[in-house]
Amino acid sequence: MGEPEFEQAYKELASTLENSSLFEKNPEYKKALEVFAIPERVIQFRVTWENDKNECCVNRGYRVQFNSVLGPYKGGIRFHPTVNLSILKFLGFEQIFKNALTGLQMGGGKGGADFDPKGKSDNEIRKFCVAFMSELSKHIGADTDVPAGDIGCSPREIGWMFGKYRAEKNKWEGTLTGKGGAWGGSLIRPEATGFGLIYFVQHMIQYASGGKESFKGKRVAISGSGNVAQYAAIKAVELGATIVSLSDSKGTLIATDDEGITPDLVHIIADLKAKRKQLSELTSSSEFKDKFKYVEGARPWKEAGKVDVALPCATQNEVSEDEAKALVECGAKFIAEGSNMGCTQEAIGVFESTRKEKKGEAIWYGPGKAANAGGVAVSGLEMAQNSARLKWTAEEVDNKLKGIMENCFENCLSTAKEYATPAEGEFPSLVAGANIAGFSKVAAAA
Ligand code: GLU
Repeated sequence: MGEPEFEQAYKELASTLENSSLFEKNPEYKKALEVFAIPERVIQFRVTWENDKNECCVNRGYRVQFNSVLGPYKGGIRFHPTVNLSILKFLGFEQIFKNALTGLQMGGGKGGADFDPKGKSDNEIRKFCVAFMSELSKHIGADTDVPAGDIGCSPREIGWMFGKYRAEKNKWEGTLTGKGGAWGGSLIRPEATGFGLIYFVQHMIQYASGGKESFKGKRVAISGSGNVAQYAAIKAVELGATIVSLSDSKGTLIATDDEGITPDLVHIIADLKAKRKQLSELTSSSEFKDKFKYVEGARPWKEAGKVDVALPCATQNEVSEDEAKALVECGAKFIAEGSNMGCTQEAIGVFESTRKEKKGEAIWYGPGKAANAGGVAVSGLEMAQNSARLKWTAEEVDNKLKGIMENCFENCLSTAKEYATPAEGEFPSLVAGANIAGFSKVAAAA
């Protein structure tokens, strides 16, 4: 097929379904898997825009409209030089089942362009967004396809695209989510993926400890330093955890004192990122150099020392087999993905086999399609608010998010118990639970 990321995502899903009792109990679902492997529609287009030197530039734009059985296609837009059809098909495929796990009526899709916002001026990024939307607007709509942000596409970019959409269509409708508040965006949307991840892990910890433990006193390694990582760190600290790491594409920031990475520091990091600066700048300032070290070219997993919880929140395949083994060695008991497909198949193999070997001891892995579903869940709530012409309070949205993450966790757990019977003393596989629960919901509606 020549689409390695998509093949990886497909095999990951298919193998858990095949190794469960799902197809025995529902033989017609086997056909559904074959059908779901092919996107309903793939739109590919040229994006031409003008840089600050008045030169013409060109990029490849895409929207993969994967599955609309449960509702309008829904999924983010990624602007990154690595974007290609394989990556967007993997993300769109994952999105179908993730969206199903939120319990809301949303289909799955994903889009983006191989545009690199790094090194571009604000004006160039705005011009690119407008050019991208001048074509994409022909294919989306509040009841058809509702994009949102992803890597390289924040509320600012969404705002520029939303403005262009309104101008093209001469109508206001909630066709994009993750909008700024002034444009009808939902409160808590920026926080939702990170907060939702922590709510999900909270349930993992509570279940595994029989209600005795929480985030209190836990050491948490996080990768990434974007939106997801920032809000995961803030929420985990609020619940009593210590954050030992964050990272960027050039290396890892490790806390060297007991206080760890505080919410104040997360805000400083957010400002730094907005100015497109590197995390390494922090350790060169006298204020921070005794509290942190920056390890060039490394990810956190072998550098963070003893950790209880590991949260990959940067990008796909950011935990290798070796790193997974190192995490288990360092005592990590809970691993959950803020990023999509953060762990390689081999890394998942390490976590899942450790879950079996160490019967009763929780080394437990929460896959992204369940653990990071909070972002798209609040996107779904933004769609509902836009359609109803209402705005809910932050508390209302946060409470709904908590409920969605709890249901998602309980659904994964009970589905794993039913279809992928865990052995005596073994924790149910959340990978199997998420895949089977998400897939069954879509298959039942197909
Ligand atoms: N890009 C996010 C994800 O991977 C959010 C998608 C959305 O809100 O539509 O789930």
